[in-house]
Amino acid sequence: MKFSFQYCPNCKNSKLRIENESKITCSSCNFEYYHNVAGAVAVIIQNKDKILFTVRNKNPQAGMLDLPGGFIDPKETAENACKRELNEELNISIDESKLKYLNSNPNTYLYKEILYNTIDLFYLYRDDKLEITDFDSLELKGFVWKSLDEIKLEELAFESQKKSLSLIMKNK
Ligand SMILES: [Zn+2]
Repeated sequence: MKFSFQYCPNCKNSKLRIENESKITCSSCNFEYYHNVAGAVAVIIQNKDKILFTVRNKNPQAGMLDLPGGFIDPKETAENACKRELNEELNISIDESKLKYLNSNPNTYLYKEILYNTIDLFYLYRDDKLEITDFDSLELKGFVWKSLDEIKLEELAFESQKKSLSLIMKNK
């Protein structure tokens, strides 16, 4: 596994030790760095019997189906992150009070050769009148609405999403 640096940022020694996939220590100068689990959100948007999936335009997993969402910014609530990400990705403005927390699942996210461990917080957002006509073409190839019967878990980009969606598919 690769971390963001191979040499101690403090003393430039290469004697870095990694514990528990997250703590990096330098045995030469006692520098410590925590590559902590990052918080992320994913929103399951439902309109009548259809759920919205985005199609990733970027790696990791370009071309695969995704749920709208992303990393939580510093000092932001998870609900704020849902609203911001949906605005950025799909140009919609949601009512945060209608977000319903579903569950959390850990995930890994390999970006530019650095592995991030995330905790993905899943939310449900139901709006039977929601119309989506726009998307961020840098991040996304497009989007697709699918009924629960049409969802193929193997088309999804991330393990955490497969787990949370299978929960919904079981309970329908
Ligand atoms: Zn050092």
